[in-house]
Amino acid sequence: MVSRVIPVDTFDLVIFGGTGDLARRKILPGLFRRYCAGQMPPEAKIIGAARSEMDAAEFREMVREAIGEFGSAPQSAGQLDAFLERVFYEAVDAKGDGGWDALKSHLRDDAVRAFYFSVAPSLFGDIAERLNHKGLSTPDSRIVVEKPFGHDLASAKALNATLAQYFDETQIYRIDHYLGKETVQNLMAVRFGNTLFEPLWNAQYVDHIEITVAETVGVGGRGAYYDKSGAMRDMVQNHLMQLLCLIAMEPPAKFEPDAVRDEKLKVIRALDPVEPQDIVRGQYGAGGGEDSYKTHVENDRSRTESFIALKAQISNWRWAGTPFYLRTGKRLRARTSDITVVFKDAPHSIFGADAGRHRNVLSIRLQPNEGMTLDVTIKEPGPGGMRLIDVPLDMAFADALGTDTEAVPDAYERLIMDVIRGNQTLFMRGDEVEAAWAWTDPIIEGWEARGDVPVTYDPGGSGPEDALMLLHRDGRRWREIKV
Ligand code: NAP
Repeated sequence: MVSRVIPVDTFDLVIFGGTGDLARRKILPGLFRRYCAGQMPPEAKIIGAARSEMDAAEFREMVREAIGEFGSAPQSAGQLDAFLERVFYEAVDAKGDGGWDALKSHLRDDAVRAFYFSVAPSLFGDIAERLNHKGLSTPDSRIVVEKPFGHDLASAKALNATLAQYFDETQIYRIDHYLGKETVQNLMAVRFGNTLFEPLWNAQYVDHIEITVAETVGVGGRGAYYDKSGAMRDMVQNHLMQLLCLIAMEPPAKFEPDAVRDEKLKVIRALDPVEPQDIVRGQYGAGGGEDSYKTHVENDRSRTESFIALKAQISNWRWAGTPFYLRTGKRLRARTSDITVVFKDAPHSIFGADAGRHRNVLSIRLQPNEGMTLDVTIKEPGPGGMRLIDVPLDMAFADALGTDTEAVPDAYERLIMDVIRGNQTLFMRGDEVEAAWAWTDPIIEGWEARGDVPVTYDPGGSGPEDALMLLHRDGRRWREIKV
């Protein structure tokens, strides 16, 4: 299947932090891929901005190297050179006054204007203020801000208020790259494009839902940052809650930004507080030739969790009584993200007790090998009476659709193109972010007040034993984290 590429309007994209890790690993290689796919107009401009003094030629060399290291190979020798001709650089200090006029001279009146804040959140206010005061932003300009969006409710509110001084909510694109993943959007297509699932998508038919985001890596070089954050702030408050919202929300009237975001917000607001016995926090120990978490963060008293599992309950008509189990952690057995919807038993088994217990399970894999599996119960072939087995209807999207996975835009590419298109559907609104902090803050404050210490878990497994007990206690078990 040939994927259809619709070119976006021409644009001037300024990347503050253009020399940083995120720009080099994701943003610039992603833009190059969109250029090769024919989606980025040939006249579009990308302007890097950071404090380092360098000219456009030096920046282009840096971009060439970044694409060589993190991007895909150019399809023709001239493609990368042609792309680099669209790349510029200005030295600008977010906190200073120099360089802003030079930056402004790149911007055209007839192009979409977007400013990507790929810098520490402490600089967001400085940049927003200068864009406004120095006349770089227009009422149609867009700004893109990265996570972490606040550290708690108070800081998120302060950040929202700062940005709101200079930009309207319709101009602010808060990125959560999980929302840019193909399967995450497919989740909405599956739920709202089929008649099959939606009638069953409620507490009457769904026993429970699991959301797992497992990583094999440890904190590595991000130790100092991570130790101030932990799995709850780094993963649950944003990525896992966004997945939870898409799974649990009511059908929006239209697939439009505010219609979708209104429904997500209602889910967050309907979440019950989490009781201490419904949370398990873990920290990885040493093993497999690797150091423990505490060694990585150089703090042998650290109480930060590198793993969390919790049971969330949504108190609304659709979901009352169906728990959502969320878990995420580092140094686990495999790198995998998936959502598992476990349906209830058939109300009456005509096959008798010998047939055993069988349930339909819908598994949605976000990575690796994006796809879906639906376990369906059938008769085991052969003689010997009616024995039942569960077989998977497996759909790896790449196989099923014959899609060239190289041609499918990754999350960042898709989201940047959505910014240029002016489509905010897959970006978090300010009130959503605040509501998510309003739910997570008391949970964090609770364990801090109690002085809870995370349990140590062995690397390479599925996290602490207690996390297994969280489900066992309810007569359930997690889907295995498979390599
Ligand atoms: P980074 O590697 O430390 O890069 C920071 C960038 O900001 C550099 O280009 C730096 O260049 C520039 N900078 C620093 N101070 C500045 C100032 N006063 N004025 C102008 N530019 C300044 O950070 P990063 O990893 O790219 O992360 C950027 C943002 O994305 C952060 O908010 C981070 O939390 C978020 N994020 C990153 C990732 C990731 O994978 N890296 C993932 C998710 C979110 P100069 O030193 O030359 O000024």
